[in-house]
Amino acid sequence: MNVYDGQRIAAMLRARGMNQTENIPDADIIILNTCAVRAKATDKVFSALGRIRLEKKPNALFGIVGCVARESGAEAFRRVPELNFVLGPQSYHKLPEILENPDTKLFNIDLGGLEKFDEMPQPDTSPALAYIPIQEGCNHCCTYCIVPYTRGREISRPFDDVIRDVTHAAKTGAIEICFLGQNVNGYKYTSPDGHIYRLSDLIGTTAKLDTIKRIRFTSSYPTEMTDDLIDAFRTEPKLLPFLNMPIQSGSQNVLTKMNRPYTLNLYIDIVDKLKNARPDIQISSDFIVGFPGETDSDFEQTLDIARRIKYINSFSFKYSPRPHTAAALMPNQIPEKIKSERLTKLDTLLNEIQRNFNESLVGKTLPCMLEGPDKTGRHLVYRTPYMQPCITDTPHDAPAPQLANIKFTAANKASLRGKIVK
Ligand code: SAH
Repeated sequence: MNVYDGQRIAAMLRARGMNQTENIPDADIIILNTCAVRAKATDKVFSALGRIRLEKKPNALFGIVGCVARESGAEAFRRVPELNFVLGPQSYHKLPEILENPDTKLFNIDLGGLEKFDEMPQPDTSPALAYIPIQEGCNHCCTYCIVPYTRGREISRPFDDVIRDVTHAAKTGAIEICFLGQNVNGYKYTSPDGHIYRLSDLIGTTAKLDTIKRIRFTSSYPTEMTDDLIDAFRTEPKLLPFLNMPIQSGSQNVLTKMNRPYTLNLYIDIVDKLKNARPDIQISSDFIVGFPGETDSDFEQTLDIARRIKYINSFSFKYSPRPHTAAALMPNQIPEKIKSERLTKLDTLLNEIQRNFNESLVGKTLPCMLEGPDKTGRHLVYRTPYMQPCITDTPHDAPAPQLANIKFTAANKASLRGKIVK
């Protein structure tokens, strides 16, 4: 979501004749697009601001947009008095106002809902992978999560608006569409004539566009995985066989305290249904370790579920107490040392599962999407349908198709090696 927001901000400023630079001393305006989901992310913003303040041109404008802006509010100006703007995640379309009035402070952390989507111009070109947000906010109240506070209650964008964005992206260069929402599979839009549109309708309509070859969506809430959506995995070959469906914990006890009111059995049933619809589907998850009150045995159950589902490409985090959340006030907060030990154990297991999966692909061929040169700049990297990077033996400057069949020749825990085949 932040990548999308960053792309729109860049497009908005480019439309005003500005160019992008990574070099702070060159910049006339410096924007930190921020995430508040864990304390570490927020802390990084303020230490970066301290550095930027010293490095930037004296008259360069600088400020923060996104969730840390909303979380810290006017306090941000007290901590860093030189800041020129503080704009929340639903008001960054107002950013150009600071260019018109550089001597004022621009402050807006209101939850403007969908307003920003109507105000921002469509970019002229789309990246091959186009992120298309379909909702703002979240209606689940997980007790650890700051998102309902920073991004507000859930609002689904009108179906026609989303399809207009998808069509525009398809016409201007997109071949993959990734629908975005905090609770993306909960997408529900009722049109003025009473028709209810779901995520499965967005997928079906998008799949009809010839130039779009791959469709995915993130992030899903387990119990919003409705039968129509599961069925889309059966009927829609453009929908990738990969789904991020965070379980967070394998302990029923912890799930209840997290206010994630699904049972492990229900979650496992959903995975079974998905595998039935699409036998090659793989699931990834987000995990939180060290949630208040988590015992060794609760944690063991998280390891058990990870082994059972065989999650690939997952994200795991140490629980981080956040302002405005219920869990921050719960008793039995877990010491940092135990959180770290649990995280290491879980990561070791997840890496092992992922390596096994990657190795199981060696010798197979899958259609993959071009991403760009590898870290050394020598060879091209493609992205598999399961989102692993695959480093090919194709030189970075060779003509190469955006979508190619790649035969995998080797694997490690984080990536694959392969070659383009006909
Ligand atoms: N609805 C989004 C939430 C974004 S946050 C989603 O499902 O992806 C992404 C992940 O960060 C969450 O799934 C959760 O695992 C983790 N997370 C959220 N709040 C956290 C906290 N207080 N401490 C640690 N991890 C957290």
